Amino acid sequence: MKFADIVIDISLEKLDKTFQYLIPENLLDKVHPGSQVIIPFGKGGRQIKGFVVDISQEPKLDVDKIKPISGIAKDSIAIESQLIELAAWMKRNYGSTMNQALKTVIPIKKKQSIKEKKTVVLKLSKEMAQVEFNALVSRARHSIPKKKLLEALMDAGQLSWDYIVGDMGISSSIIRDFADRGWIEIVSERAYRNPISVSHTNEENVVLNADQAKACDAVINDWNLGDTNNTYLLYGVTGSGKTEVYMKLLEETLRRGKSAIVLIPEIALTYQTVNRFYNRFGNQVSIINSRMTPAERFDQFERAKTGDISIMVGPRSALFTPFTNLGIIIIDEEHEGSYKSEVAPRYHARETAIARAAMNDASVVLGSATPSVESFTRAQAGEYKLLKLDNRVMDRPMPQCDIVDLRDELMSGNRSILSRKLQVAIEDRLNKKEQVMLFLNRRGLMGFISCRACGHVIKCPHCDVSLSLHGGNKLKCHYCGYETANPKVCPECGSKYIGGFKAGTQKVEEIVKAQYPSARVVRMDMDTTRGKHGHEDILKSFANHEADILIGTQMIVKGHDFPEVTLVGILAADMSLNASDFHCAERTFQLITQAAGRAGRGDKAGNVVIQTYQPDNYSVVAAANQDYENFYKQEIAYRRLMDYPPAAHMLLILVTSENESHALGQANAIVALLNNTFDRIRCMGPSDAGIAKLNDVYRKVIYIKERDYEKLISYKDKVEKYLLDSREYADTATWFDFDPMSGF
Ligand code: ADP
Ligand code: ZN
Ligand code: ZN
Repeated sequence: MKFADIVIDISLEKLDKTFQYLIPENLLDKVHPGSQVIIPFGKGGRQIKGFVVDISQEPKLDVDKIKPISGIAKDSIAIESQLIELAAWMKRNYGSTMNQALKTVIPIKKKQSIKEKKTVVLKLSKEMAQVEFNALVSRARHSIPKKKLLEALMDAGQLSWDYIVGDMGISSSIIRDFADRGWIEIVSERAYRNPISVSHTNEENVVLNADQAKACDAVINDWNLGDTNNTYLLYGVTGSGKTEVYMKLLEETLRRGKSAIVLIPEIALTYQTVNRFYNRFGNQVSIINSRMTPAERFDQFERAKTGDISIMVGPRSALFTPFTNLGIIIIDEEHEGSYKSEVAPRYHARETAIARAAMNDASVVLGSATPSVESFTRAQAGEYKLLKLDNRVMDRPMPQCDIVDLRDELMSGNRSILSRKLQVAIEDRLNKKEQVMLFLNRRGLMGFISCRACGHVIKCPHCDVSLSLHGGNKLKCHYCGYETANPKVCPECGSKYIGGFKAGTQKVEEIVKAQYPSARVVRMDMDTTRGKHGHEDILKSFANHEADILIGTQMIVKGHDFPEVTLVGILAADMSLNASDFHCAERTFQLITQAAGRAGRGDKAGNVVIQTYQPDNYSVVAAANQDYENFYKQEIAYRRLMDYPPAAHMLLILVTSENESHALGQANAIVALLNNTFDRIRCMGPSDAGIAKLNDVYRKVIYIKERDYEKLISYKDKVEKYLLDSREYADTATWFDFDPMSGF
């Protein structure tokens, strides 16, 4: 017998409260998670509508007391049922409780106060605004917030009050001051919370070049033929104009009366990017981001449901925007790690978007200059349709890249973090009043050990990933648990310059300022962007050429367009190569390529200096040549050889506990269970996680490789069931991560 858990009212508070009903024989193949059904409810047995959220074989009450479902609701295509179906898909494919999955896809629905909406509208003409602006900035000690606000209003025409005092961080006294001067008008109405609005839309569109037009036509032709459920990979080099392709496809989607979701990594969701969409589509667009309040986000989702907007731009979670007539999902920078959720269900936005698109007969467009190895493999196999933009727009050249071997620098007695070549180049740009970006690759600094004389990195003999330092003198592998002593001298060359690499952006800033005292230097990293607008302010001041040199971590390489930058220095390109994770070559290639792609985006050509200890590594060489396909060939060969994704799928099981022996005991029990149940299962571990202990909680990992994803699901199901029944290690927690994006 099968039973259905049913909720009566879809609201976040009530998702926990489900009622169990029997699924009658004749409805067995019609009732599934997401179905809307008719059920008898309450004492009188009134027939009402409910949503099936889960299906089980175990009755929660006496079977006689469980009432049967009466039937399937007619016309049940409510958006909620679609999202519940998606939640069920996520639970199955990624492992979580149904409740966790539902809470991920159903927008927060608590009673929200209705808000009065205030909009600030610029009353000055374009010319007058410019005159006032010039007058404002000509004062020696002008107010930065005033300048910022006037500039934003000139850009957008009007802005919501909340956006100005919230996102932009400008005080209301400045708005009032503008009103007193007669520059603006403050308009009030009762409405949804709208984070931003723009009055002048349909700004003059750029004319697509031949490559861009070809990519758009490929998609639109499919749509014209009624073939609307495809996944496309738009692989276009940095500066090739991918965003314009998205714009065209969005326009076409709206023309067909459908709606669209555009995913952008949170870090790239800046004023500059968002404005491009607003300028083109005006109030048909909304955004969500993590800085918005739940009420604001809820309102944006309501606007989508009611058809008030047709395009939603946002990070991963925007994928669940409740559009009823979804036509397209665009995922920009599809290779980004932030598309993978870090909490259960640990879904990947790419696969989940494809699943949602299939339910809506919609298309998915994945865009990147450095596609993930997974996506490119699928494109090669014909599973995704490949669209290519091989050249930068307006015949701009790709940047010229030079590799500097840091071992040679040490040998020649240069111990500075800046190589001689880079020093000369910086000097030159400062003289020419051009801008410089210095990128310090800080990814994957998990305590690996390398030799400064020869560049050798100590790796696991079994897994080909770097070993990490534990407790000062032990090196460990996070995949298989292999352990060895930390060597005092380099096993390759005998040099005693062996150890961890230490240099932060702050250190780099000090060095650069000391060496170039007249240069204006800004730094962007976790420390300087802590405030709500820190990161936006730094980018904006650099874009306005208020600084000559921008120093930063991976934050500065994401999608920003600074036309005056003609030199990019990559200080330690191979840093990320040494992460104890099989993705490290891919991450390195992506970071170098994206960083290099910041150079020469304007009229002047760009140069890139790549400093590295591993000048021969294929990911460094391929990135220097901006040669994705060559990188891909070598990387996929390595993945196939080692059976890493996408050659095989991988399931990571993490067991945690404050009691180390319990964590280990539980992990061992899981490995034993799996080995006893399944033939030829390839289970590795348990071993210590990359972060073996976090906040006093011990972490043990098990990895399973398997070509067939369905088999991995059955392993997960088996472990889930065991966890439900087992009482032995009650103080442990266990979670699943399918095709993990980073080491643990
Ligand atoms: P990508 O996202 O591929 O790095 P963008 O879409 O940001 O590239 O485009 C880079 C720059 O080129 C932008 O300033 C954009 O406005 C401009 N651009 C894009 N397409 C065209 C075109 N067809 N003609 C002129 N300029 C274009
Ligand atoms: Zn050495
Ligand atoms: Zn190993």
